[in-house]
Parts: sequence; C-alpha cells; structure tokens
Amino acid sequence: MPELPEVETFKRYLDKTSLKQVIKKITIIDDRVLKVEVPDLKKAVKGKQFESSIRHGKYLLVYLNPGYLVLHFGMTGDLEYYSKKDEAPAFSKVIFHFDNDFNLAYISRRMFGKLYVAESVEEFVEMKKLGPDAYKMSLEEFRGALKRRTGIIKNVLLNQSFVAGIGNIYSDEILFKTKLHPKMKMDALSEAQIDYMFQNIKSILKIGIEKKGLLSTYPDSFLIPHRKKEEHCPRCGNEIRRLEIAGRHGFFCPTCQKDLN
Ligand SMILES: [Zn+2]
Repeated sequence: MPELPEVETFKRYLDKTSLKQVIKKITIIDDRVLKVEVPDLKKAVKGKQFESSIRHGKYLLVYLNPGYLVLHFGMTGDLEYYSKKDEAPAFSKVIFHFDNDFNLAYISRRMFGKLYVAESVEEFVEMKKLGPDAYKMSLEEFRGALKRRTGIIKNVLLNQSFVAGIGNIYSDEILFKTKLHPKMKMDALSEAQIDYMFQNIKSILKIGIEKKGLLSTYPDSFLIPHRKKEEHCPRCGNEIRRLEIAGRHGFFCPTCQKDLN
C-alpha cells in the first residue's frame, strides 16, 4: 500500500509532467473511485490547470485555482502521463486530457483509490481529521500530537489522525530503528525515546523518498529487506518475528525490541 514516500514520488511525477497545461477534457472510466459527484468534478477541473501540488500524509492535493483536486492512491494506485497516440494504461479510472499531445491517467487496479474535490488544504485536513504530515512536522507538533495519545505504539503510529503518512511497513521500520517493542504503550516512552523516534521518522522517510518507495532497494541494515519468515535481524542476528496487531502483520526483532511493559 502506498505510504508517504510513494505518494511523494507521485507528487514529484505529477509536478514534473502535468503542471501548467490546460485540462481540455476529463474522461471518467469508473466512477466508483470518485468521492465527488461527476458534474462537480468536471466543473472543478475543466478548462483549469494543475497549478501546483501539496502532499499531506498519503493524500496529494493539486491546486486548481480555485479549489483542489485530491488524489488518494489506495492499495494499488498510480499515475501515468502518456501520449495521446498511445492507448490508455490498463486499469485507468480517470483520464485528464491536456491541451497538448498528452494525457494523465489516474490508475487503480482495485477500487481503493479515491478522488475528491476540496476548497482548501485546511478544509480537507480538517474533514479527514488528519494529524500533521509525518515528514514535514516539527518536533513541537510531534510532541503535541503525542499528548493526546495513549495505547499501543504501533497502533498510534498507524493512526492518520495522530500523524499522517505512516503505514504498516514504515511503522515497523521506525520501531525497529528506535528499538521499541510494537506493543509498548505510547505513554510509557521517555522524552529521549520520543526525540529519538522523531529523528528516526524523519530519516527513514527521507531514505524512503530517495528510494522512491521501492522496497527492493533498501539497505540491508533496514528491517524492510528482512520482512519474511526465517529472516534474521541485521543488527543482532536473531530471528525476526511476525506479530499481528489490529489485523495487520508487523515484523520486529524480539531481542532488539524488548517488551518493557
Ligand atoms: Zn535484533
């Protein structure tokens, strides 16, 4: 499932290919991906340009002047900018036709991706009850978000209203680097552990963005290449364990990440 680094990669792709071109037409192939009425979507984008974009958590908000088109990529979402001479990519759900020889396809293999229209970034963030963006937040914002949270640390990290952008894979990586057991209670963390976790969120997401979220390219020192049964911890050599929390399969090292509850 696309997490923050993948959505940042989509943002950079859209910025590189699709800004400042008049949208002549929009084709809706499957309206089940829409969280907006078709006439409202058409009215919002037709004759407009994608002026700029902002990512917040796993959402990409594209400024239309006025208003925003908001893209969520669900489990299998993607974007493709392609020549009008070529066929639309497989699983295209919505196509934006520009005033040149190119189109932008919003692709989703399944139906989990979603398109919205919003008046402003603030309105959308409020409506979705999103916390601060995990990559852009300050230490003060992170500490503020923590004050309102109790419960199991892995669940708190996954909660988009705590901080936005972290999913199953990156939450495991952050806990591995910070040496915290996934089931530890959030309010049991020391100030030093909180500061260290904050630094690790930033550094892990930064590497994720540099790697464009391609999981096969992460360094061996990360947990990511070892998310399998019978793999060994790159730090201590002991066996990696799988753990189910709230229906999700996480991985951790029971030696490096002791349960201190
Ligand atoms: Zn270990």
